[in-house]
Amino acid sequence: MLASSLHHPILEENKSMFSGLADMAAVYFEKIDVEGHHFGPDSHQVRAAVKHLDLALQTLNRKIKDTNMEKRLNVMLFSDHGMTKIKWMEKVIELDKYIHMSDIVKMMDRGPVVSLWTKNNTYQKVYAALSQVPNMKVYGRQDIPKRFHYRNGKFVSHLTLVAEPGWFIAENKEKLPFWKNDSGPPSAWQNGWHGYDNQFVDMRGFFLAAGPDFKQNVRAAPIQAVDIYNLMCWTLRVDPLPNNGSWSRVEFLLNSSDDLFQTRKLWTRFFCLLGFLLSYMKV
Ligand SMILES: [Zn+2]
Repeated sequence: MLASSLHHPILEENKSMFSGLADMAAVYFEKIDVEGHHFGPDSHQVRAAVKHLDLALQTLNRKIKDTNMEKRLNVMLFSDHGMTKIKWMEKVIELDKYIHMSDIVKMMDRGPVVSLWTKNNTYQKVYAALSQVPNMKVYGRQDIPKRFHYRNGKFVSHLTLVAEPGWFIAENKEKLPFWKNDSGPPSAWQNGWHGYDNQFVDMRGFFLAAGPDFKQNVRAAPIQAVDIYNLMCWTLRVDPLPNNGSWSRVEFLLNSSDDLFQTRKLWTRFFCLLGFLLSYMKV
């Protein structure tokens, strides 16, 4: 659920939890992202939004205690991305200064990553021109780094542009995504953005968890967003479908996962052994 004001939604959402009607509840708090875009990650507006969230979580924690759910409810807090400061005064890459936009059939998005579909026979020309642009990389489909896990997608464009941290790609400065800060037309500058290379430290999010399934006072090495699915499935006792998360990165965060994991391993061994015996008997 989307929550612009967290205080009520988090409690509303959790009513069903506290009454035992739901196994899982999820709340998305948008305000930190919005303020981060508008005023930048270091702004007092972002700090205020985080304080607001903190207050709501204090209320949630009190409610968990008051209803004796401490030993029955797992709480996971995480962000889907980080945020970095951007400077439209100095760091905008204007594509129409380098290529003819009439050679482009379709341009998707603006900012750190831009997708371009070129018109017939213009691919090489556009690619060559964009290769010269500083503070940005241009990739043909098969050149996109493997670690992005992106290049084989069926919707991937002919060319993918990736800006260096802090740089913003747009057709030109007039097409920047200004936001509406007063009654006039949108004209306010954005000061924060995300979507840059995920190896850039500013793009990191956070992960916190507490509850009966989690060990206490454990500080983990960085995990990846794709690992959270396995944790969610674990706490819900649901078998995860095949996914890109790594169990080895999160396993040690869990209470008694060793025992349960061992049991699973024993079962696997048992089935393997049985499989071996059956094939042996056939021979
Ligand atoms: Zn955002």
